[in-house]
Amino acid sequence: MEILKIEHLSKIYGTGESAVKALDDVSFTVQKGEFVAIIGPSGSGKSTLLHLLGGVDRPSSGKVLVENTDIYALDETRLAIFRRRQIGLIYQFFNLIPTLTVKENMTLPLLLDNQQEDKKQFDGLVKTLNLEHRLNHLPNQLSGGQQQRVSIGRAIISNPAIMLADEPTGNLDSRNSSEIIDLLKMLNKTYRQTLIVITHDERIALQADRIISIEDGRIAKDEVIR
Ligand code: ADP
Ligand code: ADP
Repeated sequence: MEILKIEHLSKIYGTGESAVKALDDVSFTVQKGEFVAIIGPSGSGKSTLLHLLGGVDRPSSGKVLVENTDIYALDETRLAIFRRRQIGLIYQFFNLIPTLTVKENMTLPLLLDNQQEDKKQFDGLVKTLNLEHRLNHLPNQLSGGQQQRVSIGRAIISNPAIMLADEPTGNLDSRNSSEIIDLLKMLNKTYRQTLIVITHDERIALQADRIISIEDGRIAKDEVIR
């Protein structure tokens, strides 16, 4: 099943002399359950692409269809709801709210959506993330690896169509990086969670099902590797 379809996506920042074409007519599709790595030099347009897939920014032209919904045809309110329910975003620097506990950070998307947490499901997730004894801690009381596990919990708690990660291991040492990648792979394989990860780390890219290389805002290569 096709979960994501990108059609002729372009993004230009600024206008006139200072305009920058960050994405230039990019099209591809992603199947449910795929693990896609996006690689490419700094400034090639990877983050721009990820933000457009996540409904965080608006394209200059082209479409993003998630489960057949043309997300940029939605008004702002509906787009915000779409983001909260269907997109799980994971960042390099975790982006946790420092004044909220681990549990509060993880369940924030449910709270914002007026949804009750399912206790059994939540406990299962906490166990998977190995955060049982950290639920009442604040983010700054946790190691980097633990903080990233909290942010993965927050990303997956509303059972999103797609998880998007921008350099999820960029701020972690190699042991914690392996742990985070193993966790993402496990979520991908066990729950068929569709996963798109930007990475500079070749060891991570080689664990994906498919590698898309971006250069100068275009797809330079798109290879299925397993
Ligand atoms: P990458 O993630 O591959 O490093 P980006 O998507 O961040 O690339 O950037 C692609 C291009 O767009 C770069 O030339 C960058 O300078 C430019 N760019 C990114 N964000 C903005 C912005 N908000 N305003 C202006 N230019 C931007
Ligand atoms: P990890 O368990 O990911 O290898 P560390 O070795 O950095 O993490 O930390 C060991 C333990 O110490 C962790 O369980 C973590 O909760 C705790 N810890 C790490 N940093 C802090 C901190 N700044 N304040 C309180 N506890 C911390």
